[in-house]
Amino acid sequence: MDHPGQLLAITNPATGQCLAQLVQTDTDSLPEKLQRAQRAAGSWAQQPVAARQAVLQRFGENLSAQRDVLAQRLTAEMGKPLSQARREIEVTVQRLAYFIAEAPEVMAAQPGAAPVGGVQEHVTQEPLGVITQISAWNYPYFLGTNVFVPALLCGNAVLYKPSEHACLSGLAMAELLWAAGVPRDVFTPCIGAAQLGQALLQLPTAAVCFTGSYATGVQVAQAAAGRLCRVQLELGGKDAAYVMADADVLASAKSLAQGAFYNSGQSCCSVERLYVHRSKYSALVAALVAEVQQFCVGDPLRPETFVGPLTRAAQVQVLEAQVADATARGGVVRCGGRPLQGQVFMPTVVSEAHNAMLLMREETFGPLLGVACVDSDAEALQQMQDSPYGLTCAVYGRNSQRAAALLEQVQVGTAYINCSDRVSVALPWSGRRHSGLGSTLSHTGIAAMLQPKAWHVAAAP
Ligand code: NAD
Repeated sequence: MDHPGQLLAITNPATGQCLAQLVQTDTDSLPEKLQRAQRAAGSWAQQPVAARQAVLQRFGENLSAQRDVLAQRLTAEMGKPLSQARREIEVTVQRLAYFIAEAPEVMAAQPGAAPVGGVQEHVTQEPLGVITQISAWNYPYFLGTNVFVPALLCGNAVLYKPSEHACLSGLAMAELLWAAGVPRDVFTPCIGAAQLGQALLQLPTAAVCFTGSYATGVQVAQAAAGRLCRVQLELGGKDAAYVMADADVLASAKSLAQGAFYNSGQSCCSVERLYVHRSKYSALVAALVAEVQQFCVGDPLRPETFVGPLTRAAQVQVLEAQVADATARGGVVRCGGRPLQGQVFMPTVVSEAHNAMLLMREETFGPLLGVACVDSDAEALQQMQDSPYGLTCAVYGRNSQRAAALLEQVQVGTAYINCSDRVSVALPWSGRRHSGLGSTLSHTGIAAMLQPKAWHVAAAP
């Protein structure tokens, strides 16, 4: 619940302890914040790109230097296992290096073809202006920097709303950006929940970059439609994987266990539905369960913990309901199946799953995986396609051409062969259908922060 101008309690999902009471951004202050950002964007954009690169370089150095403190804070506020929190910050620094190195090429002017009728043609790239960024909580460093780092490098200002479940990390990034030399009005954190997000969407900014659920994404698109601003939506997933008849069972099970349960299953690209060819089904289920049972579960501060608490308390009931629905429809709980303590849900594998079950249809966002048996590649393809989401899809098998032929037919933004739950800064990250619009990362994600200007230059008579 939002109470603008009032306090937002930040609670540790592992302990229930109140970590902080943050003053929420008053919605009445937003128009003035936007005006200040618009003014500041002009001089920020006029700086040479090398100056902005240097500032973002310092931001990366600050992140590296503060890694352990930031990781502790991230673990405290959202329950991410500490080793994974450290990894998120390390990989964020690597992604920064990519954006800093590649932005000038994407921003560079492009010459046109040969002069047409004596008129020279070329294209320049300009920043959009002020961007509204509304973010999710599950990878606050990735989701934040994937948008605001290219945006800032390209000369934009950003109004940034971190998730109400990751505000401490959002504010830490703001402090480090300012310390690195980003002017305060060029990067404005806004603290609050849904109501603040709705108020932000009323501002006439040049673009809205949103990461979150499909349901909220639709509301964001509707709110932005009236003013025709650029909209980028990174939404949910119900990502499928298929183990073919010729797959290596042990290697596939190991990879899939990581792909389904990393970040306690709270990744947009977690494997949430698994289809296995009948010839490998029993062996694969046994190997998968053996992998999952080795996970260290519970206190996210323990260095060896792989599955920690769910960030949102209400998600425990969502997982319980999916398990109950699955067992009522013939599913068999092979491990886990219930909360361990508090918001920690035991990593769970349900076999004999089928697409009528909630756990094969609705986003789970937790450590729960349904496994279904199929008789052919064609059946696997039909089952994997049976979802409105389209983020990623994985196929495991020795014949990568056959795997690729299947993946070419699946409507997803990312295809994996013998791997899953993987993101590369050099590749575009995009969803299809209910998984979103537009791309972050790669040159495409940088270009999303720019608008082209076409030039026609004729000689004076
Ligand atoms: P959410 O939709 O509940 O909230 C996302 C953000 O929107 C938060 O900052 C929230 O305060 C804000 N918000 C909520 N209602 C709003 C409204 N009506 N108007 C404006 N803003 C509003 O999602 P979440 O629980 O924070 O994140 C989990 C979801 O995000 C999952 O569906 C996950 O798959 C998705 N996700 C997608 C990607 C991707 O790259 N595709 C990455 C991470 C997470």
